[in-house]
Amino acid sequence: MARVKGKNTSPERLLRSALWRAGMRYRLNYKAPMGRPDVVFPGARVAVFVDGCFWHGCPAHYSRPRSSEEFWSGKLLANVERDSRLTLGLEAAGWRVVRVFEHEVYQELDKVVRVVEAAMRGERLPDERDWRVSRVDPVPQEGEGWERRELRLLRAWDVVRHEVGPRKTGRDKGRPKGPRAARGSARGRTSARPKRRSG
Ligand SMILES: [Zn+2]
Repeated sequence: MARVKGKNTSPERLLRSALWRAGMRYRLNYKAPMGRPDVVFPGARVAVFVDGCFWHGCPAHYSRPRSSEEFWSGKLLANVERDSRLTLGLEAAGWRVVRVFEHEVYQELDKVVRVVEAAMRGERLPDERDWRVSRVDPVPQEGEGWERRELRLLRAWDVVRHEVGPRKTGRDKGRPKGPRAARGSARGRTSARPKRRSG
């Protein structure tokens, strides 16, 4: 898990400072009953996870690595299954769970803050139909670089849909440009993503 998601990578920090500016006082390193949320409000029992687009199957940005396909395929499925299990487990234990993709933090930070505020007030989340890519296979018969994607609902794992289209690249997440951002990209690597600098 530690390799899957560092605790101080930039989308998490961006969200934390936005929440702080909005007057929401979260707890760091608070133990939720399950998993390791990025932001926790123990009083309101709200857990917020910032999910990396690659590791957590973002429908807009998951990019199928072209090598070690079996390894990456198993990794993706294990990650998104665990996300589903944890989310449902926390909610069954009376917590409200907000999961946002890193691209939402980069592109729509104000909206993400409003969603967390709504969760704190105990309101229904605006969109609980949260699709996750669970598998991607090449379909060369459809065209060069085409792929078939299997998506599942985070909160209803049996609900599956498929789409066929050109290979997604994982670009346009809106990550701020800069030397740190360039180093953070590990797309297509066969080994674990290198540690990002934190701080
Ligand atoms: Zn994304």
